[in-house]
Amino acid sequence: MMKFHVLTLFPEMIAQGLAASIIGRAAEKNIIAVDPVNIRNYTTDRHGRVDDTPYGGGAGMLMQAQPVYDAHRAVSGGRKIRTLYVTPQGRPFDQKMAAELAKEEELILLCGHYEGIDERVLNEVVTDFVSIGDYVLTGGELAAMVIIDAVARLVPGVLGNGTSAEEESFYNDLLEYPQYTRPEVWQGQSVPKVLLSGDHAAIREWRLEQAKERTKALRPDLYGRYEERQRLIGRLSRDKRNQIHIMECLARGQGEILQIAGEDAAVYHRESGVCMVKASSAESGRYLLTACPEETKRYLVSRDFMCGLLWERGYREIAVCRQFLYTRKVPLPVRHKDIRQLDTESLSCIPAICDTQNRAYLEERLRAGSMYGAFVGDRLVGFAGVHAAGGIGMLYVSEDFRGNGVGASLESYVINRLLERGYTPYGHVAPCREAALRLQEKLGLYQAGDTFYWLEKPE
Ligand code: SAM
Repeated sequence: MMKFHVLTLFPEMIAQGLAASIIGRAAEKNIIAVDPVNIRNYTTDRHGRVDDTPYGGGAGMLMQAQPVYDAHRAVSGGRKIRTLYVTPQGRPFDQKMAAELAKEEELILLCGHYEGIDERVLNEVVTDFVSIGDYVLTGGELAAMVIIDAVARLVPGVLGNGTSAEEESFYNDLLEYPQYTRPEVWQGQSVPKVLLSGDHAAIREWRLEQAKERTKALRPDLYGRYEERQRLIGRLSRDKRNQIHIMECLARGQGEILQIAGEDAAVYHRESGVCMVKASSAESGRYLLTACPEETKRYLVSRDFMCGLLWERGYREIAVCRQFLYTRKVPLPVRHKDIRQLDTESLSCIPAICDTQNRAYLEERLRAGSMYGAFVGDRLVGFAGVHAAGGIGMLYVSEDFRGNGVGASLESYVINRLLERGYTPYGHVAPCREAALRLQEKLGLYQAGDTFYWLEKPE
């Protein structure tokens, strides 16, 4: 469950504003929780005051530090929770930020009123300053509601259809295509014929063309980014087996191009903090690394000289892998019939299958709706999923169920889910995992020629 705590002087605005429709239902189903906290309840002023005039003069009143600080302490209890101050001076809120925030378990949103809030408490508690646009509202409540609405609908389970957020405006830098519903003819205007054809491939193609045309006309800035990405995907596709991880990162709308150098490129996978670098020489690699952010958690590279360059920057290999990709469009047969998407409730069963996995990471993948489990009766006997950076993995089968084709079914199931979204499934396997290597071959995946290295900075 994702929790939104809203520190405000007008809690009733938040409670009423988010009680209806999709967000209201998600709260009723405990998929999200909205917790309006009245800052006034925390004032130590005898008369219940929470504001005062600004030092140095000027118009209006300013919210005081003490009640805001105490309200924040009451919610956080000293824990580090990402805290957003909604302010016209903040980073402009957009769909990318919504996706980033949807990964959090808990958020605190602080709403100003009057002329704003004493700067000193902002220095103490705020992690992010966020604006919803270049205009000034009377208070932060509407801004907080806008952010909660956009973030909550990306939390798995809030929207009925798991993929619908991926077809909407801003996904992949394209605006959404036009849509139609009954009647077929309205005021002399007919629904485009292709939408009545039942030909899903033709419909997908038509929609993509419409989205491109619309974006080009209405948002040339977005369209420019889309085109740059498509051009890079085209160049990388000449070496598809070795570059599928970067191509997919871009095609799935998750990658930011940091730098291009001829045929080479550095791409940042925002959500996972992974930089993927394709460099054909050490010189090019060195140049591309200058564009990679300081906060890069992990690198995924495929040449020895890249490891050398990253060692100089304090990164160390955590895994050496072979890369596999599934290039056919046809779904694979799945023999084990009871495979389902898992949620965080499955976390307690996972140590029974494997105790070596990083629990926090697994929990994050479960929350993202990226894990699938094989069941026998009520018992979870294996699982597999999609890593934060896009590859298939985390495949484990309980010892007493190995050799029964459960692993093959799980991987095939995940491949089919990715195909449904129009993705090219790929994954990494350590060369020592012989059974897993054989499985890739058996399922018809191709192996890339390069060796891949994951590097991380030791704590
Ligand atoms: N004096 C402040 C300034 O010029 O930056 C504006 C204060 S505004 C009248 C009162 C409160 O509304 C702010 O503290 C902020 O929480 C909220 N607010 C106003 N405009 C906003 C915007 N565009 N985005 C997010 N929050 C906004």
